[in-house]
Amino acid sequence: MTVWVEMEYVLASVNPTFTGMHIQHNTLRRVNSLASLRAFGSPRNFSSSAPRSKPRLVILGSGWGGYEVLRGINKKRWNITVISPTNYFNFTPLLASCAVGTLEFRAAVEPVRRYTPEVTAYQAWCDSIDFKRKILKCMPATALPPLRRVPNASHSMTNGAIVSERETDSRTFNLHYDKLIIAVGAYSQTFNVPGVKENAYFLKDIRDARAIRTRVLECFEEANQPIITDDERRKLLHFCIVGGGPTGVEFAAELHDLLHTEIRRHYPGLARFARISLFDVAPTILGSFDSGLQQYASKKFTREGIRILTSHHVERVEAGKLFVKEEGEVPFGLLVWSTGLAPNPLIQSITDVEKHPKTESLITDDNLRVIMKDTGAPDPDVFAIGDAAMIRDVPLPATAQVAYQKAKYMTKKFNVLGKDKEHVTPFQFHNAGSLAYLGDWIAVYDRTKVESGPKTKEAGRLAWLLWRSAYFTRTISIRNKILVPMYWFINWIFGRDLSRF
Ligand SMILES: Cc1cc2nc3c(=O)[nH]c(=O)nc-3n(C[C@H](O)[C@H](O)[C@H](O)COP(=O)(O)OP(=O)(O)OC[C@H]3O[C@@H](n4cnc5c(N)ncnc54)[C@H](O)[C@@H]3O)c2cc1C
Repeated sequence: MTVWVEMEYVLASVNPTFTGMHIQHNTLRRVNSLASLRAFGSPRNFSSSAPRSKPRLVILGSGWGGYEVLRGINKKRWNITVISPTNYFNFTPLLASCAVGTLEFRAAVEPVRRYTPEVTAYQAWCDSIDFKRKILKCMPATALPPLRRVPNASHSMTNGAIVSERETDSRTFNLHYDKLIIAVGAYSQTFNVPGVKENAYFLKDIRDARAIRTRVLECFEEANQPIITDDERRKLLHFCIVGGGPTGVEFAAELHDLLHTEIRRHYPGLARFARISLFDVAPTILGSFDSGLQQYASKKFTREGIRILTSHHVERVEAGKLFVKEEGEVPFGLLVWSTGLAPNPLIQSITDVEKHPKTESLITDDNLRVIMKDTGAPDPDVFAIGDAAMIRDVPLPATAQVAYQKAKYMTKKFNVLGKDKEHVTPFQFHNAGSLAYLGDWIAVYDRTKVESGPKTKEAGRLAWLLWRSAYFTRTISIRNKILVPMYWFINWIFGRDLSRF
């Protein structure tokens, strides 16, 4: 949807600046567990005994914000630990393509482990932050057997940055930081509509894309059974999307492409039953775009047979049916829910930092330091970026473009800080415009709100070319720079793969 322009980032060579990394013995308060810890790692694994010459930086999250910091930061100067429940980065703009098989899943993720052992990474959740003592409470996000079945396990790879605490009655552990970057993003908003969490699919993560793709193909295989009636087929092959923002629109477009190519070819008797409906409470789709582009998108969708049901209110969801105020009961085979962002539970749990009253985003100053409630002053050691944060009085959209630029700013700051220098230049956002794919190799490109360069807008094939080249350019690894165009090409020549596994 959104395209980024600036590419450069600074990799400075820096000197260590932080000294006196005192040991926080309180994290070893469970001394009685030392015996079991000895079984797995020597005491050097604990920061209490590890020689450390570098300041400890902990990055929470491996999304657009966290991963970009990880990529750009000078790892020789910082003792870096990444905490994220996913051990990969999601290239979110390509998730809708992956959800219908235009791209394969691997092409839209990048591994965090690329950067180990230079950095330490734990696939874990951060559950709470003690800003005063500079301690993070974390919980493994791995599906290991319960602790009692692996009594000998311990956190043995701590690179000296971490003090680890293993509780016998839970799987939590503590980490200490000198500097902290909070980049945990946001969750999907449901507006507490009953039944959404249980019956709808979200599109935030590559696993969501995989689940959606499996479900779409399952609907067709089910509808293809000889025992199914036409009425049941119609219900199963009704694909509903709630949320007419860029994510909902792009998914509708990608799904439409699939239905009108491979599905039509390989399920010739079923294509006529398939329908897509796009619901939104707002009066238009693509509300953040220029009104001319909104109309263009609506007209295109209507022409293609995608039903646009704006000013519609979904009141409740049950298995296989929506209850819409204006329509009554609406059966579906797949429901994708994309109605914006809800606060991350970690951010909700934070009470010491100023937050936006409505979105609950952490408020930062223009150096991206969080503002502490008790003093009203920025915490010099804690930074927040991406969807979880906003600069005081500077509302910016919750986009990868903003998260990415803030991450770039952080790497500059930390690379300079690592040289024992001050970095006080405020963050400035450079809007590069917004893109949205509308299907059938057509897109819209909105530059009407950019501050510099021509304030133009574009709709059609040229915008689509820009859309593809923008995301190709943004793709991070060489591996994915090969995979992405390769899948685009292969699927164009041979069609998308309809295998369900
Ligand atoms: C389908 C889709 C398409 C999109 N397309 C575009 C686009 O084209 N252009 C654009 O500008 N924006 C786009 N966006 C929005 C963009 O992806 C987000 O704005 C961006 O991901 C925000 O970056 P972030 O780093 O704040 O959060 P995320 O990228 O969401 O990353 C958050 C990270 O934090 C981790 N995390 C969560 N909770 C915890 C915790 N308790 N402890 C530790 N780690 C935690 C997560 O696992 C994840 O790694 C899209 C979003 C979606 C869902």
